[in-house]
Amino acid sequence: QVAIENVLKNLGIDEINDAVSTGKNWKSSGQAQLKDIHSPVDGKKIAAVKFATAKDYEETIAVAQEAFLSWRMVPAPKRGEIVRQLGDELRAHKDDLGKLVSYEMGKSLQEGWGEVQEMIDICDFAVGLSRQLYGLTMHSERPFHRMYEQWHPLGVVGIISAFNFPVAVWSWNAALAWVCGNVCVWKPSEKTPLTAIACQKIMQKVLVRNDIPEGVSCLVIGDRAIGELMAHDTKLPLISATGSTRMGKAVGAAIGARLGKHILELGGNNSIIITENADLDMTLIGALFGAVGTAGQRCTSTRRLIIHESVYDAFKEKLVRAYGQLRIGNPLDTHIHVGPLIDQDAVKNYLDSIEKCKTEGGNFVVEGGVLTGESYESGCYVKPCIAEAKNEMAIVQHETFAPILYIMKYKDLDEAIAMQNGVPQGLSSAIMTTNMREAERFLSVTGSDCGIANVNIGTSGAEIGGAFGGEKETGGGRESGSDAWKAYMRRQTNTINYSTTLPLAQGIKFDL
Ligand code: NAD
Repeated sequence: QVAIENVLKNLGIDEINDAVSTGKNWKSSGQAQLKDIHSPVDGKKIAAVKFATAKDYEETIAVAQEAFLSWRMVPAPKRGEIVRQLGDELRAHKDDLGKLVSYEMGKSLQEGWGEVQEMIDICDFAVGLSRQLYGLTMHSERPFHRMYEQWHPLGVVGIISAFNFPVAVWSWNAALAWVCGNVCVWKPSEKTPLTAIACQKIMQKVLVRNDIPEGVSCLVIGDRAIGELMAHDTKLPLISATGSTRMGKAVGAAIGARLGKHILELGGNNSIIITENADLDMTLIGALFGAVGTAGQRCTSTRRLIIHESVYDAFKEKLVRAYGQLRIGNPLDTHIHVGPLIDQDAVKNYLDSIEKCKTEGGNFVVEGGVLTGESYESGCYVKPCIAEAKNEMAIVQHETFAPILYIMKYKDLDEAIAMQNGVPQGLSSAIMTTNMREAERFLSVTGSDCGIANVNIGTSGAEIGGAFGGEKETGGGRESGSDAWKAYMRRQTNTINYSTTLPLAQGIKFDL
């Protein structure tokens, strides 16, 4: 049993929380709307939060702009030191923050702690990166000339995040953006503002201790109206937006119209191809966790299983048996496998999708439904379900953010890959096989078209060391590891002439 009152106290969450923070300061204008935040775990009110007005937003951006002028002058390894300290604070607060993530968002406690661990890992990564913001040198075609490139920060980076990873997505973006010399303005999901306030309070300790200028880390609590202001705001040269494809299309269009930069991390429709050569016991673990983990509310959740006809019946039987053993309930109880959906709207979407699937001819081999009665009082607990379906069905082509798994048969690998790729989204994909030819074909240019393609691992649970993101309607953005940092900087090519003449390009002569 978790004493949430103590968790809130330890994280500095008050009964009523302010709308914006520019680092050390918290405030909200008289017009800020007060909203109660409820937990999907038990339906109880956790705390109330003020939602920012447009004026609050504008004032925050002005402070951030000011902070950028001095933060960009701090040497990158020193900026890394600040991020190192954030990592240490997160280690100290891992237990409490993980619990609040679980209580506010509804994911299991293990996953809540896992999310905070990802934050710590990206801080470690960013610290190393702060000494490795490398540019190339080139050989000039002109004598006594030197050419090289360097990377400069962009300015104020906007971060719009989704409810399902309420804290990790911020850190993936902010840790990198900071070491690159940017300042950050974060608008978290309106469904999970309290975990965001907790993160800002943790960062605040580091900012105060190091006397960092006000505005390096800003938080604006608000709904999509604040997100829209950000998308149109030319004072934000880069916006990293995580959420639905619907949101990404709107934000992408607004940023595109002003020729700004974006990192879009949108919906997925992820599948596992299970070949006749798959280790079915291993596959079961990957498929089960991928489909029901976080109650199917991960962008990388497994939505489709594309199964070879020769192992279809055997695997279906295993899967149905495993679903029968799932424990659904309070995610803060570590014996539980599946927690609640985020809210009643999500439950309605889940039920609508089941109906649509049935109308289109889907055959449910594990039935869904909403759980009622003791310990399900919030009305957000649903049964993970499985439907035999066809890839081309409209509902299968659509990302439903809930634990509904579609299973389908294939005959040969070409057909399976065509099915895997035959959806509008392109985030995560996997093949389960012990056959090297099948695995390599899947990873080749004629294989998966997704940003993430795994062999003998499910679709969810990416490590921070790789670049994370997807193609097509997933938005094309990359964040986290590898060279994703380059998106947070502007590249400048420099040519220096140390000769006594100035040879012009294309042999042009000016006789003066
Ligand atoms: P959502 O699109 O409803 O909201 C996401 C964020 O965008 C919120 O902060 C919201 O206030 C804001 N927003 C919504 N409409 C906006 C608009 N028109 N202009 C500006 N801002 C706007 O998504 P959600 O329900 O919070 O999250 C679930 C979705 O996020 C799923 O589709 C999931 O796949 C996706 N997701 C993707 C990734 C990834 O890395 N690809 C990671 C996590 C979640």
